[in-house]
Amino acid sequence: MRLWLLDILACPADGCKHYPLKLLIFEWEDDDAKRILRAGESYAKGDISDLKKDLKGSIKIDRNKGTVEDELARSSMSVEDYAVLFKEKVDSIFRNVVADETGASTSLINAIINFNVPSKLDEGFENVIHLANWLAFKVNVQSGILICEKCGRSFPIIETIPNMLPDDLRDKKEDREFLLKWRKYVPKRILEAEGIT
Ligand SMILES: [Zn+2]
Repeated sequence: MRLWLLDILACPADGCKHYPLKLLIFEWEDDDAKRILRAGESYAKGDISDLKKDLKGSIKIDRNKGTVEDELARSSMSVEDYAVLFKEKVDSIFRNVVADETGASTSLINAIINFNVPSKLDEGFENVIHLANWLAFKVNVQSGILICEKCGRSFPIIETIPNMLPDDLRDKKEDREFLLKWRKYVPKRILEAEGIT
């Protein structure tokens, strides 16, 4: 699951539909954990060349016109409007990653959350725009869990796919096996709800 999905996923349970959901990451796909750690080392040095390469020109920043276009905004907008949108996306996407058990993304997500968004473009803002786009769209969660804080339900992410089904369509056996496999990372109240103690 790509992190940007947190921006749109709502609880599928009848009568709930709560948004946004919380994400716990147990495992990244393939070598994504290593890629994230490498990106963190480069980012700390102010080097975003690898991020740019992966993003393949999907971010267009024009300092003269003061405009930004990226995957988060999906259209060109003034930096003032973009700053507002960027803060909204930080709230809907990155603040909802409540744990990364691999530890790979923690420092980068904190760098995004704690970034003080300026009202005009500068190098720091441009770098964090690239970082946020890269983390939201270019790495994939292999295993994890989405939690609805309103109704308490949880939804497994199995082999990168979030299983977002209403109660009557869920595979109870598969859900239980998944929770048992990752039990050391699953919050106690979720295990207890499934009768796992
Ligand atoms: Zn819910």
